Amino acid sequence: MIKQELYQAFKNKFDVVGIIHTNRYLNEAKKMGKKVPNVIYPTMVILGLAYPMRIIKHTTSHLVPSFYTFGLDYHYVLKTRIEEVMNNFNYDYQLGVDNHPHDERLAAQLAGVGFFAKNQLIINKDLGSYMFLGIVFINVELEQEVILNIDDDCGTCRICIDACPTKALYDDGKYDMEKCMSHYNQTKRELTTPEIEANYSLFGCDICQMVCPKNVKKGVKVYPEFELNGKEMVSIVDLFTDSEKQFKEKYADMSYLWKGKTILMRNALMVMLRKKNDKYLDLIEASIKKHETPWYKETATHIFNQLKALPKKRG
Ligand code: SF4
Ligand code: SF4
Repeated sequence: MIKQELYQAFKNKFDVVGIIHTNRYLNEAKKMGKKVPNVIYPTMVILGLAYPMRIIKHTTSHLVPSFYTFGLDYHYVLKTRIEEVMNNFNYDYQLGVDNHPHDERLAAQLAGVGFFAKNQLIINKDLGSYMFLGIVFINVELEQEVILNIDDDCGTCRICIDACPTKALYDDGKYDMEKCMSHYNQTKRELTTPEIEANYSLFGCDICQMVCPKNVKKGVKVYPEFELNGKEMVSIVDLFTDSEKQFKEKYADMSYLWKGKTILMRNALMVMLRKKNDKYLDLIEASIKKHETPWYKETATHIFNQLKALPKKRG
């Protein structure tokens, strides 16, 4: 194990702490043909932090992203917690949360943080898949690895495969990322009609987590950073009238902002179409005239025409 005090400091800040030799991770990644950069620090720590499962419904005026985005941006939260630990020690280190070239799910499997499930997520015995992952490479020698309990798997279950609305998950445990809603609704491109029709969320998709039996009675712990702050409901008027700068200031520190406002506008249109919400036709039309981005204009025009053609409610 790395120095006991360092291990304890991580345990105080995170729900799950696994520790392995960096070389074991690098060798395994290489064996699997993954291109990951070399790391000279000998120790790799894999950290899991719980987040809660909370359902908030869209309204006619406000739309809701995937619940993992509720509260402060988890990238910031995990990085801050890691730095708070490392600042008390005199070791060089290199950290990563989500946006980095390493395979944190492979490392999580090796450290026994959880098993790699058919919904492509790491499932931990205590937290289910409701857990953010972070990694730290540290320039300190390991005396002993900390491999957690990983005695579990999906077995014959295929509930998430059947529930996936875009058929992105396969029986053999593989997955087609391009088909996944959580991937395409974060992608800057024109969307196809089936993609538009399937999309129900302002950002991301929660279905394969919510149906998973391993997540029953999980997702209850709420850290102060992930308390609701009102910004989990996004105003349609703000989306279509605020400038990028105004919007980013109003919804600061939310992880759904990382790709900018135009993605959210495009996704909002898909949700409005699904909900047959034609209250904002004027704002949508103005946005199409104003916007230069081709993928936005195309998808927005397609949806605008469909919303305009909806039968008008009487009375
Ligand atoms: S996130 Fe949604 S679309 Fe993607 S695999 Fe899971 S259920 Fe399917
Ligand atoms: S729903 Fe079933 S198959 Fe899918 S991840 Fe959960 S346990 Fe595995």
